[in-house]
Amino acid sequence: MTARRAAVVGAGPAGFYTTDQLLGEGFEVDLYDVLPTPFGLVRAGVAPDHPKIKSVTRVYEKTAAKPGFRFFGGVELGSDIMREDLLERYHAVVYAVGTATDNRLGIPGEDLPGSHSATEFVAWYNGHPDFADHEFDLSATRAVVIGNGNVAIDVARMLVLDPDEINVTDTADHAVAGLAAAQVEHVVLLGRRGPAQAAFTNPELRELGELARADVVVQPEEIELDEYSRAWLESDDADPTARRNVEILRGYSELPPPSKSHRIELKFLRSPLEVLGEDERGCVGGLRVVRNRIEPDASGALRAVSTGEEEVLQCGLVLRSIGYRGNPLPGVPFDERRGLIANQGGRVCTEEGEPLHGEYVVGWIKRGPSGVIGTNKKDAADTVARVVEDASASNHVERPSPMPAIRKRTGAWAITCVSTSTQSGLPRQKRYSRKAPSSS
Ligand code: NAP
Repeated sequence: MTARRAAVVGAGPAGFYTTDQLLGEGFEVDLYDVLPTPFGLVRAGVAPDHPKIKSVTRVYEKTAAKPGFRFFGGVELGSDIMREDLLERYHAVVYAVGTATDNRLGIPGEDLPGSHSATEFVAWYNGHPDFADHEFDLSATRAVVIGNGNVAIDVARMLVLDPDEINVTDTADHAVAGLAAAQVEHVVLLGRRGPAQAAFTNPELRELGELARADVVVQPEEIELDEYSRAWLESDDADPTARRNVEILRGYSELPPPSKSHRIELKFLRSPLEVLGEDERGCVGGLRVVRNRIEPDASGALRAVSTGEEEVLQCGLVLRSIGYRGNPLPGVPFDERRGLIANQGGRVCTEEGEPLHGEYVVGWIKRGPSGVIGTNKKDAADTVARVVEDASASNHVERPSPMPAIRKRTGAWAITCVSTSTQSGLPRQKRYSRKAPSSS
C-alpha cells in the first residue's frame, strides 16, 4: 500500500504540531498556508519582545526537515485550491486555520480614526503583509486598551516600551520607527469585570512591573473585591491563576507613586458605551464608559452588570482586544454561534453531528481562541488520534492522485522565510509581500 497522505491547512502552531504527529504516524504531509511564510501566530501574533516564545519555531523547523514533509506557501483554500481537490487527493485533510477575525464591541464610534482592533495593531508591528501599510496615529498621549486578556497586555506594553527595548526585537522596521515616534505616555488597560475575573496569566501581568520606562499603576479602590469574587477566590473552585493575579495587583496597588516617564494603569469594572469623536475630523477624543458591579447569573457565573454610572476616559487612541472568532471555509460546515468549524473531538461534522469522511480540525478553529502555544500540542494529539483511529478502521477512502491541482495564482509556491539579523542575534522579520516572484 502507498503511504497515507495528509494535507494540513494552516502553518501555525496547531498546524505544525499536527504535521509532526502525522509524520510520526507514517503519513506524508503537505502543509499549506495562505501566507508565503510559515508559523502563523508565532510570526504574526506573539509580541516581538517575547523572543523566547517565538523561538518555538526551532521545533517547527525540525518538523519541516523530516522526510515526507512539504510546505506550500501563498496558497488560499477556496481560491488557489479547493476543498474538493484536497479531499480527492489526501486520505486526511486537517484544518488548522485559527480564528482570524476580532470581536467587535458594537458601540457607536468604534470605527472612528484612532479606534482600532488589537488584531490590526499586533499584525502591523509583527510585519503581517496585509497590515504592513496600515497607519496608526500614535501622536496622542493617552490610549485605552479594552480587554483584560494577554493580547491586551501585549499591546499596552508595546505602546510604552523604550526604543532600546524594541530595537533588539524582531518588530517590523516600519513599526520600530512608528513606535519610536509615538507620543503615548499613559495607557489605560480596561476590564469590564473585576480583578478576580481578569484573563491575564501571571507571568504576563508580572512583566508589567518590570518595564524600563513605564510604571504600572493600580489604585487601591480598583481592586476592592465584591462579596461574590471574594467568596469565589476563597473557595476550592478558584483558579490559582486568578488568585495569583489578585495578589500581583494588590502588590501594584501598594507601590510608591509613579516616577517613570510612562505608565500603564489598570482599571476594572467598566464597559465601553461609545468612542467619542474629538474634532471636525472625528478623531478619537475619549471613551464613554459605564461602571459595573459583579453579580452571579442563573448558572452561578460572575457577570458584569451595569450600575448606570457613567464617566469619560480622555484618550486619543482606542485599541479593542476582546477576543477572536473564526471565519468559515468554503464548503466546510461552520458553527456560526461559536464561530468555529463544526466538529466533534476534531472530526469535522455536519449540523446534525454526522462526522465527515477524511476531514478534521485542530487549534483555535476547533476549540476557540484560548490557551497558550503549547496547548495546541495536546489538541493536535487528540485530533491526530481521530485520524489514526479512522485509518485503522479503514474509514479513509483510497485517493487517486498524489499531487493536488493547485490553481496557480502567484506563480511560485514554496518560498523560504526571509529574515536578517539584529544586533541581539534575534531574527528580524523583513517586510514581505504576498505577491511571490513569478516563476520562469
Ligand atoms: P482572552 O484571554 O479571551 O481575553 C479577552 C478579554 O476581552 C477578556 O478580558 C474579556 O472579558 C474581554 N471582553 C470580551 N468581550 C468584551 C466586551 N464586549 N467588552 C469588554 N471586554 C470584553 O483573549 P485574548 O487576550 O485575545 O487572548 C487569546 C488567547 O491567547 C488567550 O488564551 C491568551 O492567554 C493567549 N495569549 C497568550 C499570550 C502569552 O502567553 N504571552 C499572549 C497573547 C495571547 P470577560 O472575561 O469579561 O469576557
